Amino acid sequence: PIYFDYAATTPLDPKVLKKMLEYLDFNHKKFGNPASRSHKFGWIAEEAVDLARQEIASFFNADYREIIFTSGATESNNLAIKGCANFYKKKGIHIITCKTEHKSVLDSCRYLEENNFHITYLTPQKNGIISLEAIKKAIRPSTILISIMHVNNEIGVIQDIQKISEICKKNHIFFHVDATQSIGKIHIDIQKIHVDLLSFSAHKIYGPKGIGGLYVRRKPRIRLKTLIHGGGHERGLRSGTLPVHQIVGMGKAFQIIKNIFNEENKKITQLKNYFWKKLQNIKEIYLNSDPNYCIPHILNVSFNFIEGESLIMAIKDLAVSSGSACTSSSLEPSYVLSSLGIRDDLAHSSIRFSIGRFTTKEEIDYAYNIIQKAVIKLRNLSPLWEM
Ligand code: PMP
Repeated sequence: PIYFDYAATTPLDPKVLKKMLEYLDFNHKKFGNPASRSHKFGWIAEEAVDLARQEIASFFNADYREIIFTSGATESNNLAIKGCANFYKKKGIHIITCKTEHKSVLDSCRYLEENNFHITYLTPQKNGIISLEAIKKAIRPSTILISIMHVNNEIGVIQDIQKISEICKKNHIFFHVDATQSIGKIHIDIQKIHVDLLSFSAHKIYGPKGIGGLYVRRKPRIRLKTLIHGGGHERGLRSGTLPVHQIVGMGKAFQIIKNIFNEENKKITQLKNYFWKKLQNIKEIYLNSDPNYCIPHILNVSFNFIEGESLIMAIKDLAVSSGSACTSSSLEPSYVLSSLGIRDDLAHSSIRFSIGRFTTKEEIDYAYNIIQKAVIKLRNLSPLWEM
């Protein structure tokens, strides 16, 4: 099958793989524990971790001491939200987030709700954007944290984190951004946007799975209660021996993205426009996000008069994500699409195509042909289709 699921995960960039391998075996002598301070194996590993941390910090225009390594964005979101809530609970117990956030944000909030916190889950507008007025209205004297993602993983819609950060700053509320889907797609300069906490993950940017990070602002400082106790690694915020090969891999992935950012985004924009133009030859197809506020990497569309499961079966030569039940154990349509008020049948027939570094025009032509044939065939079988 052809890969159109870069928003789910990406393959390693070959340069990342090469770098990681150096830090695994005996021959390279770089496999040491960075916490071993008494010998060269430890020093070499520590230096590699420091360099990667610098690389990632400079990507955000941040200080290296503001980057904490975690096992991925799920853990970063947990640490940001629970860590902040638990540290500042004497100051306030109210948190604002949005219904279309990733489950790792929503479920962290649900957990806090069971522990006496109050959470406001904002409903976005029909186009997926959260209105600034809605945010302002939700603020209470007890609000300590607002957690809003930068780019949505299902529909690719971009939130105005600059404006939201201004609201937070003015009201003395901490601001957490899940930037997992925006890294390498939209630039974030931490000096220009007042974010206190920012989550990211390597495997969405051609780095390895199982490693990510949390940016934690130092000036003015935000404090967190730790979730993982132990040897006191990562400034006491996240104990555990550092996975050096993963960290250097993530550092390399950031370095590569920094160098090819503009070029890559230009190429992907062209591919998406080409794909969408072709897809519009198909009748009764709907775009599930606002094209004016959407990254080019994600194209989420619904096909009217088609049953989601049959569509997925008919296009199984394409590796895509679907809002339909057959990809998950539940019969519910995607909660993200439902929150936008999209009808259940259209949510079920939605397909998320995500385009990336290795996508070609030929792959898009191939995909279009498969989709077009499948749609015609399935609609001819449908009693509702009379066009
Ligand atoms: N947030 C968003 C927006 C995501 O897309 C993902 C990955 N699907 C995550 C968080 C979780 O990231 P990880 O896989 O690194 O835990």
